[in-house]
Amino acid sequence: MQESYENMNTKKVRTRIAPSPTGEDIHIGNLYTALINYVFAKKNNGEFIIRIEDTDRGRFQEGAEKRILSSVKSFGLTYSEGPDIGGPFKPYRQSERLEIYQTFAKKLIEKKNAYYCFCTKERLDELRAKQSEMKQTPRYDKHCLENVQNSEERISHGEKYVVRLNVPRDQVVTFTDVIRGGISFNTNEMDDQVLLKSDGFPTYHLGVVIDDHLMEVSHVIRAEEWISSTPKHVLLYQFFDWELPIFAHLPILRNPDKSKLSKRKNPVWASWYIEEGYLPEAVLNYLALMGWSHPEQKEIFSLDEFVSVFELKDIHPVGPAFDSNKLRWMNQQYIQNLSDGALFEKIVTFYSDKKLDSDLLKKIIPLLKTRMETLKDFEDLAAFIFEAPKVSLNQKEKEIASKLGELLASVDWDEEKILLQLKNILQEYDIRMPTLYKIVTGKEKGLPLPQSLASLPKDEVINRLRDALS
Ligand code: GLU
Repeated sequence: MQESYENMNTKKVRTRIAPSPTGEDIHIGNLYTALINYVFAKKNNGEFIIRIEDTDRGRFQEGAEKRILSSVKSFGLTYSEGPDIGGPFKPYRQSERLEIYQTFAKKLIEKKNAYYCFCTKERLDELRAKQSEMKQTPRYDKHCLENVQNSEERISHGEKYVVRLNVPRDQVVTFTDVIRGGISFNTNEMDDQVLLKSDGFPTYHLGVVIDDHLMEVSHVIRAEEWISSTPKHVLLYQFFDWELPIFAHLPILRNPDKSKLSKRKNPVWASWYIEEGYLPEAVLNYLALMGWSHPEQKEIFSLDEFVSVFELKDIHPVGPAFDSNKLRWMNQQYIQNLSDGALFEKIVTFYSDKKLDSDLLKKIIPLLKTRMETLKDFEDLAAFIFEAPKVSLNQKEKEIASKLGELLASVDWDEEKILLQLKNILQEYDIRMPTLYKIVTGKEKGLPLPQSLASLPKDEVINRLRDALS
């Protein structure tokens, strides 16, 4: 694309995400959109803001807004204006801006760029059925525009109505997308979109255009699924006589088999990744690589570095594959690169509901660091160190445990001496490590046994082995 197009706008850079509170939380694909908006704003000394688009009352989910905002924050994508913190263009929640949309809808009606429509559901269903019978694309036939003269009167009698966009025929609407270049649509392909619904709420199209304009959004960076809506928006900008923002439509993340990222193949809610012990910085790093690559082909880089080398135009429009195995690998890289102190802090915070013995944890951090892929792996690897495991042993296993207790009681307490005794047991009873591991820890694998036992006080280990006999 043109080298300088993305910064052509001389206004202050203001980007936004406009999530709808219709799911459990923010979708990982929308977190990707948030990341790019955040980074682009940072790069250009601009502002990144959040607006909540809660006008679809049928799909509205109580509590979703709170979870979305909290997820965005937990990934460190700080926003400078939003529904919870306010800002110069408040309110940032569309349901609190209904009067604004109604006022602007009236202006469109006055200029005949929009019109009242009183058609019943029955008529619209009939129209649609007829059109599909004749293999035509279903769309509204401008019946009310052409036939209704007494709209105000009908409204004053309490009749229900919607407001529709008056799409002119035989025109071409064109806009430039930073990532995709010039895009054109013929207005004959476009429907007279409802702008204001009978409940007084705007549809997405009216709300998004008015708010992006009033909130001085300079760059509309959103997912590619909105490309086909953009010509309607462009018409609205023209009708209002407003300057267009710069558009960029990001590729949609896909499953490795190229299907749209869905709950069946990959967890989609951003908070899931935090709850499963992924580090926000690792997830953001992974997302950064969706449809974009570092100029030096680096895979691991910080958010600051991403800000410094990122160019919007370098994003590839083709759907990148979101591979959860690759993300796991990246998370592991991030964990390995943490200092011992930082990993200690992360584990303590992640398990804040458990009272972990700090000294013990500090001792085993180096062991953990090379083995954890996520913070949650801590539990599998090391839970037995912090809490005596519940083991139920058969007769033979009890014999082994008792013998091990006896041998360990007589050694100096360090990992080499412990290892020696473990080897003696393996030989004497002709068993393999996983069997012995299970007798001692209740699990078949985890952190190396000699080091783990050495991290505990000798008495504790002997007592546990004794208790396992009863
Ligand atoms: N409310 C839309 C959404 O849920 C926003 C689309 C846009 O960014 O314009 O994603």
